[in-house]
Amino acid sequence: MLRNFVILVALFSTIYCYKTYDGYKILRVNINSADDHQNILSLESEDVQEIFSEGRSGHSDVLISFQNFPRCQTYFQSHELTYSLVSEDVGAEIRKERQGLLLAPQIAQGEFSYDTYHRLNIIYEHLDALAVTHSSNAETFNLPGETFEGRKIQAIRITTNVTSEASKDKPLIWLDGGIHAREWVSPATVMYIIDSLLGEHEKDKSTQMTALLDEFQFIIAPSINPDGYEHSHVKDRLWRKTRKPSGCKKNKYNWFGGCFYKRCYGVDPNRNWSTDWGRAGVSTDPCSEVYPGKEAFDQENTRIVSDFLTPHKDKLKLYVTYHSYSQLFLTPLGYTTAEPANYQHHLKVGACGDAIAQRHGAKYINQRSAALYPASGDSADWAHDVLGLTDSYTFELRPDENSWKVGFELPEEQILPTGEENVDGLLALIANIEYNNDV
Ligand SMILES: [Zn+2]
Repeated sequence: MLRNFVILVALFSTIYCYKTYDGYKILRVNINSADDHQNILSLESEDVQEIFSEGRSGHSDVLISFQNFPRCQTYFQSHELTYSLVSEDVGAEIRKERQGLLLAPQIAQGEFSYDTYHRLNIIYEHLDALAVTHSSNAETFNLPGETFEGRKIQAIRITTNVTSEASKDKPLIWLDGGIHAREWVSPATVMYIIDSLLGEHEKDKSTQMTALLDEFQFIIAPSINPDGYEHSHVKDRLWRKTRKPSGCKKNKYNWFGGCFYKRCYGVDPNRNWSTDWGRAGVSTDPCSEVYPGKEAFDQENTRIVSDFLTPHKDKLKLYVTYHSYSQLFLTPLGYTTAEPANYQHHLKVGACGDAIAQRHGAKYINQRSAALYPASGDSADWAHDVLGLTDSYTFELRPDENSWKVGFELPEEQILPTGEENVDGLLALIANIEYNNDV
């Protein structure tokens, strides 16, 4: 009885506190050139609520309100853009997912599960619990600094004899998740990788994991945009950016110094890094989903991560960042279509896609980030160019291109297989990185 009441209250608050997307549609627009992509970005400032996918593989999914649909169709026709309808009513999809979350069983403090999407405190508490259970191989810490809303970015360091000074000199593998708030399967997958490295899952791989922990130190941060992640849980399921006020829509102010249209919040944290910052695949409108900020690293979370990694650059051997969706393994570079000098190596490590497919049959396509059009200022390019790292990659997780309605809402039953296949993918990736083939 009490449980039903709690659910009713939660559903009521869902309706009145959580952003609805009733009548919103998702359209898949075919992108055949950089000009097409730029036209989509221009449209964002006019009609389209937001750019959705960043699969960079021939189309862009856009979210549009019912009212703007006719204007949008006219725009597509005048710019010779073709499209198909992916979701008729995004609001209905969000309500369905939210009811599932509310009905998910509670878990004890410190525990974790892969049958639902968890809030930030559950993620952090589980990391701390792992550090207690596996005290010889794991320790947690906060990256120095706080996000705009005052949150910590927590990381876990995993290696054999983690408390020894010698372990700090080992070659370093960095993994992060959740830089885009709404990509919920990213932190979940990173958590599964953490659990597996420590033997909580994938127990049949214990010999392999022990060898990895002997050789490397892993530093893993599952949620590097915690303000955005929490906002996506409590206010707006489709929030992508950070939460810091970013200016006025179209940079238009009124006579009184306020915003002519509306105030904007957040910066795309994966356009905010210093490599080729602000040039391609971005928008100058602070309300845009791909607004890169006023300057590189003007967002606390990107500054915190880059400040942490920079002094470790000599030890760093692999950088991997997890996004969703599209099922892609993206190699450098993202800001230019020119092949990097180490492209042949990137093709070789792309074989990790075979390991992923062998687990559950999911096909992750291996491609250069800027295969079709460039996007400046992302974290993997920064690690590649500024930290001088050959092995710097982005995974776009499930779902693939043909089986989604709202791609960020990966059904809960797919969280576990996504984690499992990405443990296999990561192990195959590590086996082929430059460090492992030099020695
Ligand atoms: Zn992303």
